[in-house]
Amino acid sequence: MSWVFALLGLVFGSFANVLVHRLPRRESIVWPGSRCPHCGAAIRWYDNLPLLSWMMLAGRCRHCAAAIGWRYPLLEGVMALSWGGLAWHFGMQWLLLQGLVLSFLLWTLSVIDLETGLLPDALTLPGMAAGLLLAWSTGRLQDCLLGMLAGYGLFWLIGWLYLKATGQEGMGHGDYKLLAMLGAFLGWQALPFIIFFSSLTGAVVGGLVLMRRGAGWRAELPFGPYLAAAGMIWFVWHDSLLNWYLGWMAPVP
Ligand SMILES: [Zn+2]
Repeated sequence: MSWVFALLGLVFGSFANVLVHRLPRRESIVWPGSRCPHCGAAIRWYDNLPLLSWMMLAGRCRHCAAAIGWRYPLLEGVMALSWGGLAWHFGMQWLLLQGLVLSFLLWTLSVIDLETGLLPDALTLPGMAAGLLLAWSTGRLQDCLLGMLAGYGLFWLIGWLYLKATGQEGMGHGDYKLLAMLGAFLGWQALPFIIFFSSLTGAVVGGLVLMRRGAGWRAELPFGPYLAAAGMIWFVWHDSLLNWYLGWMAPVP
């Protein structure tokens, strides 16, 4: 069954590419149909197949031969891998649906954040609603509602303290809403791990990038992808993580 979900992942990866291109530009996501951003020529359905068309066209527009970015096949590929992997890991159960929705939102948001530094409300707000709806269907509404509010509140508080201490904004408000969305999907129990893991990886990777670029610490680096990675790791492996942590903390007999 996993391959069916991998194929579906390709299709939704293609849709994710549309969102990545249009949401930050505030364009409609349903109309008009796909166009080449370089020459404006309409893209026919046979040139718009996930992965296949990009390879057939060797990564160039059929009309003007402008390069089509690597992001298109890459996002379709990782979506196919994610959805196939989730189906293989979880099998047919409610959790799978939750994972598919969450991974779609997280990949789309991460790529938008990397490209533009934005985390559009048009994704995070419906994402919170979807998270709560799925939580309600699995009887976890209380945990997840609390997770959403605590997620937003925690980052708001950290942001406020940071502003007081340094006189500048440390995080974007989009990051608050992304953590709230993760809380709505995963429950408040996920928040400590997400904050710990994302800050740690963000600091390490950010530090390496800044060292290479030689830029000052003020340079704005997107934080969304680290939150997204932490959220997805928690979603798939939280049982093992908790067992490992509890085993670590248990007193030696
Ligand atoms: Zn073109």
